[in-house]
Amino acid sequence: METTTDTRTDLLGLSRERLAEALASVIDRPFRVEQIYQALYARAVRDVSEMTDLGKELRARLAERFRIGLPEITEKRLASDGTCKYLFKLPDGATIEAVDIPERHRRTFCISSQAGCALACSFCVTGYWGAGRNLTAGEIVGQVLAIRAEASLPMEGLNIVFMGMGEPLLNLENVKTALDILTEWISPHRITVSTVGILPGLEEMAGWERRPNLAISLHAADDEKRSEIMPINRTWPLAGLMAALRRYPLEKGRKITFEYILIRDLNDSVRDADRLVKLLSGLRAKVNLIPINPDRVLGDRMVPPDDEAIDRFQERLRQKGLIATVRRRRGDDVSAACGQLRAFGRDPRGVRARGAAR
Ligand code: SAH
Repeated sequence: METTTDTRTDLLGLSRERLAEALASVIDRPFRVEQIYQALYARAVRDVSEMTDLGKELRARLAERFRIGLPEITEKRLASDGTCKYLFKLPDGATIEAVDIPERHRRTFCISSQAGCALACSFCVTGYWGAGRNLTAGEIVGQVLAIRAEASLPMEGLNIVFMGMGEPLLNLENVKTALDILTEWISPHRITVSTVGILPGLEEMAGWERRPNLAISLHAADDEKRSEIMPINRTWPLAGLMAALRRYPLEKGRKITFEYILIRDLNDSVRDADRLVKLLSGLRAKVNLIPINPDRVLGDRMVPPDDEAIDRFQERLRQKGLIATVRRRRGDDVSAACGQLRAFGRDPRGVRARGAAR
């Protein structure tokens, strides 16, 4: 797909209300809005011509004015564990990734909220390529729809995690619209938004009626270390973040997930574990420990602790009453593992992305 010159309005990403407005002058009966809404999201059609429950004439009229901007899958890499990484090319040449993670009892899609990322965390490959742009609501929902279509899966029963490229809370308006659409089929309990903890975004989410699960990328339990690996911590340091999380409304039975990447000799000591316990005390929290996935652009210091150190860290948290799990590596033989989403190239023609090492 070359840079698009299609000036027709994109229907993908429109809420039911916006869809009704867009269609008002074209449709003959109000219930068409619902038919088209279902065709877009429940059936994931690629083209108006596939909306066969509409008359031919109406389809022709729709096709004149509207298109369905489903992101194009340009590459698909299947890992030996069944994890499948998808590369999408967007109409402006930006490239993003999403990952389909099949597990025994569930199916999870890890999707992107931005093409690139401005946060420059020192352990993450996406940030290495620099800031990109916000994805539209259609491009966010479109990742789910395109993978579903490719894998022949219904919407129901899926789990969605916003842990791909980008910082969802820096694109909250579009993420919210995407969530409003997705939660018509998928319970918000099956959707997780992962964030470094952008305070204004958290405050806004706290006011939402239907909140997804919240995961906080913590990675260090004191400001000095956290600022060293996550520059955003200088803007939103731990005290304010933890205060906001203590105020955050949690439904019965829900917990906030804290992601903690374990990096050898950096944040993996028993003292670090004790600091983490203290930081999270009194919060309904669970900790997800993630041995760092190394990558050559991250340098030699960004390596995981050995297994004993990982066990020791986890054990320490458990002894002090915290729920702590260790995240299994998935898909790392095709660079689909966490923090390895690197598709973004700043050159809109994708030259830089092609030149990047894989
Ligand atoms: N910006 C949001 C969403 C991106 S997902 C956020 O930071 O939460 C970020 C997650 O990717 C991190 O919490 C971590 O779980 C994972 N991650 C990033 N780099 C990683 C690496 N090198 N190894 C393992 N996990 C990594």
